Amino acid sequence: MLKINEIDVYYHKTCALRGLTIEVRPGEIVTLIGANGAGKSTLLRAISGLEKVSAGSIEFEGRNILELSPDRIVRLGIAHVPEGRRIFGRLTVMENLRLGSYIRRDKKAIVHDLERIFSLFPVLRDRRSQYAGTLSGGEQQMLAIARALLAKPKLLLLDEPSLGLAPAVVDSVFDVITEIRKLGVTILMVEQNARMALMIADRGYVLETGSIVHQGTSHELLTDELIAKAYLG
Ligand code: ATP
Repeated sequence: MLKINEIDVYYHKTCALRGLTIEVRPGEIVTLIGANGAGKSTLLRAISGLEKVSAGSIEFEGRNILELSPDRIVRLGIAHVPEGRRIFGRLTVMENLRLGSYIRRDKKAIVHDLERIFSLFPVLRDRRSQYAGTLSGGEQQMLAIARALLAKPKLLLLDEPSLGLAPAVVDSVFDVITEIRKLGVTILMVEQNARMALMIADRGYVLETGSIVHQGTSHELLTDELIAKAYLG
């Protein structure tokens, strides 16, 4: 579904990604793990067209998406939930959700999808008229994910979905991610909470200073002693 081949990304003269190659297959949950500054967010931003890629290729469903605008990339079916959620605090929950569907013309289907999303996130239904800025951290994360789903993505990019959330809320975010996959959405996520992320993922990649240094099935990564020691806390 997504094939990234040997990409380089620079911030001015600093290399943030170097010869990075990964693949995501349809229906998978794939997780990226690695220390702060390894380049995980940069990779998601490069896929979304938010960072310039200076070498290599990115293909989505067989089509080269390098050089496409972020807007075109969303329309092709890739939605991105950035780190820190970026919801609009002075808009209501419902207004935030409507923004998620701005690229769509199929109004009837949007109403139907909204119902499905409310059954996935009942708290958002209860709070649909409330200002998003007054939601708890976990509710804001749910809203950010729900808003991305309203773009009807085939591939969802999640950047640190559990960051800053209380442990019980972290569990419910991971539950929701598992439910989203069951709806047929493929997921590529970045998580500091690497062990939990691998437990719901099919495969994982370990990034170090802009390159992949390990990859494997979740089981392989979870049971590798060196990886456990270095990355799984
Ligand atoms: P974290 O978990 O801390 O978010 P990360 O693995 O997502 O880390 P990135 O945010 O992708 O890492 O950053 C990769 C490298 O690129 C880091 O060295 C970072 O300082 C640098 N970097 C990121 N954004 C910029 C920018 N806008 N300008 C210059 N350097 C940047």
